[in-house]
Amino acid sequence: MVTLEYLVQYAKQTGFIFQGSEIYGGLANTWDYGPLGTNLKKNIKEAWLKKFLRQGPNIVGLDSSILLNPLVWQASGHLSGFSDPLIENKTSNQRYRADKLILEHDPNAKPDGWTLEQMYQYIIDNKIKDPVSGTTDWLPIRKFNMMFKTFQGVVEDTANEVYLRPETAQGIFINFKNIQRTTRKKVPFGVAQVGKSFRNEITPGNFIFRTREFEQMELEFFCKPGTEIEWFNWWLEYMKQFLLNLGIKEENLKFEPHAKEALSHYSNATTDIEFKYPWGFDELWGLASRTSFDLTQHQNLSKEDMTYLDPETNERYIPYVVEPAVGVERLALVFLLNGLEEQELPGGDSRQLLRIHPALAPYKAAILPLMKKDHGAKADEIYKKLAENFDVVYDETQNIGKRYRRQDAIGTPFCITVDHQTMEDNTVTVRFRDTMEQIRMDVDKLESFIRESLKF
Ligand code: ATP
Repeated sequence: MVTLEYLVQYAKQTGFIFQGSEIYGGLANTWDYGPLGTNLKKNIKEAWLKKFLRQGPNIVGLDSSILLNPLVWQASGHLSGFSDPLIENKTSNQRYRADKLILEHDPNAKPDGWTLEQMYQYIIDNKIKDPVSGTTDWLPIRKFNMMFKTFQGVVEDTANEVYLRPETAQGIFINFKNIQRTTRKKVPFGVAQVGKSFRNEITPGNFIFRTREFEQMELEFFCKPGTEIEWFNWWLEYMKQFLLNLGIKEENLKFEPHAKEALSHYSNATTDIEFKYPWGFDELWGLASRTSFDLTQHQNLSKEDMTYLDPETNERYIPYVVEPAVGVERLALVFLLNGLEEQELPGGDSRQLLRIHPALAPYKAAILPLMKKDHGAKADEIYKKLAENFDVVYDETQNIGKRYRRQDAIGTPFCITVDHQTMEDNTVTVRFRDTMEQIRMDVDKLESFIRESLKF
């Protein structure tokens, strides 16, 4: 696997990802997605929507607000509890997440279920040093709330305080009744949502792995109490197949069930799907069985009835919920790391290659006239036809070998070359990114050929 530094350089040079606000010296941990990154993110979201919304078991969509009534965050527990343990070094004034500091010291420690005092004691007992100052003089750990606060309206006082959502899930819970009423869905059913979330992370970093602004794809799957573990296992397998079908190597994945004592108080099962990043295995995708916690909390605070009447048994209950939640950028990082390589070729040559499923590739095909003067017009015609249905790119600069390499490097699965023979028999060469094999194909077959390759 390539290093993170290599990937950052690559992403910048190819146009996947640029540093945010670069011309002003940047803004820490913000990233802008260039032409290729935009397509990659769009394709990841489309793939997720296809499998988790359109083809999922009884799923509908939602697009709720980023700004919600602050009572939502009171009910959900985010106002009082959405915090990370912050520890500050007295010499350097650097701040860290105490649990991460402990995990860096010993990856087998399990600080998730510990109290602040237990974490502090561990750091002192093990003489964990501040990576910056090298000292062990730590201030006591305190809780740091990660919600971004802002003001709604023209007066900046506490009455107008609102928060940017730290997750999309609560928008789903507060619309549970609206959705159930308007769709007349019977439990089990689910609600899928894609949208931005914001968290004032203490230690963002590792490129786009952890940022303060990110996009989430969350699904809340409502089911009958008692069936949640069965559904939990079903979704875990579904998530795994999604990743494997899109080309993630199995050896890059690990399933980490949370131990009982590390579970959130409302959860009766949680598993993280982890990926092997350059710094080791770390979270990619979380699956949590959240019981009826969220709907019950909203029922208690809003006084709105959140129960569901089972039309077959006449039972009334608050549904349980199983939640797969993943970040779009986190998946983008994973697909880039999983697929990028520097490949040695016979004869001592090498090429940069991004092996990525055609469904996710920023461009499905590159249309290349062998010679601009003779084949440009025909190539342009093919390009325009394919562009009606697919993201494709046209390239006529430099020799054909260099153009192939450029497309290999950005993951374009097919290069379509228009040459002398095209003018005679309406065929083109189609070159495959991974094998570099070339075949001849009738121009009229290109569309169905590309469409077929996108399936997963
Ligand atoms: P951590 O404990 O590492 O902070 P979490 O367990 O709180 O993460 P969840 O609340 O379960 O994360 O979020 C669901 C998913 O959203 C994560 O698996 C990840 O893919 C994504 N995600 C969460 N926080 C961030 C972030 N700061 N930047 C990018 N993606 C994120």
